[in-house]
Amino acid sequence: MAETRELLDACVHCGFCLPACPTYTLWGDEMDSPRGRIHLMDLVERGEIELDATVAGHFDRCLGCLACVPACPSGVRYDLLIQRTRAQRRERAPRSLRQRAVEGGVLALAARPRLLRALAWPLAAGVRPFPLAPRVTAADLRARPQPLVPARGEPRMRAALLEGCVQRVFFGRVNRAAAAVLAADGCEVTVPRGQGCCGALALHSGREDEARRRAQETIAAREDRIDRAQGASPRSQAPPRPGRHHTARMKRNRGPGPRPGTGGPRARDGRMRVARSGAGDAALCTCRVPRAAGGRGPG
Ligand code: SF4
Ligand code: SF4
Repeated sequence: MAETRELLDACVHCGFCLPACPTYTLWGDEMDSPRGRIHLMDLVERGEIELDATVAGHFDRCLGCLACVPACPSGVRYDLLIQRTRAQRRERAPRSLRQRAVEGGVLALAARPRLLRALAWPLAAGVRPFPLAPRVTAADLRARPQPLVPARGEPRMRAALLEGCVQRVFFGRVNRAAAAVLAADGCEVTVPRGQGCCGALALHSGREDEARRRAQETIAAREDRIDRAQGASPRSQAPPRPGRHHTARMKRNRGPGPRPGTGGPRARDGRMRVARSGAGDAALCTCRVPRAAGGRGPG
């Protein structure tokens, strides 16, 4: 994991990312552009300015859409930078009690897909409580892949699909399409029911400990449910179980772990790796199937 200083120095301030940024396009304020935010991060990192409420406001207004990342010719990892900055922001410029309550409520709701789906049904009926409310149909809210999507032809991989919290409710068609594409490419897709939250939303909000806990819970639950799903698989030659080596990798990545209250980029990287490993691997973990006699091998 790169040091924050290294990530900041990668920006050459060329401004190619500016037209891709919706907040800059909307407000035209340099400090609400990726380049401006990186400049602020740089000044905070150097200790030249405080991460006070004014500076934090520019970070808060970042949508986290990451449209600036592919637009950057220098490959600046704005995604990592804003993630680390949000964790710093929580420590150095805590939000008001009311703001924290709202944020906690939104994250808790997002992590309960059943409740979220129940609340979303009025949207499918055409009720629009606020202008930016997502436009969904009843079919959107019902769409989801089968728990086990068999590979087309001889299976050569196995994947466990993490449906996501919000995605499961509003973009179930995307999950179904992803499973269909994988199956068409010879992948047996397991979609364990009752999946939890991978922690991505918490991670993107700077709540690293919560993100790590949710990721670990999701991995543990996923392993258990995949076992049961595999028991129902019609394949007599079951491929290696996904997840075990990812958990092992997660433990390796964790290392000794940060002490409570310790900070700094290196300690933070240690925490991030666990959460990122958990969230990333759980999102879609693929395991190779040993080359079967007469069948296609991996890759
Ligand atoms: S983030 Fe990339 S595109 Fe944007 S100013 Fe920096 S180097 Fe240029
Ligand atoms: S992630 Fe933030 S800075 Fe980057 S394009 Fe989106 S709103 Fe702009």
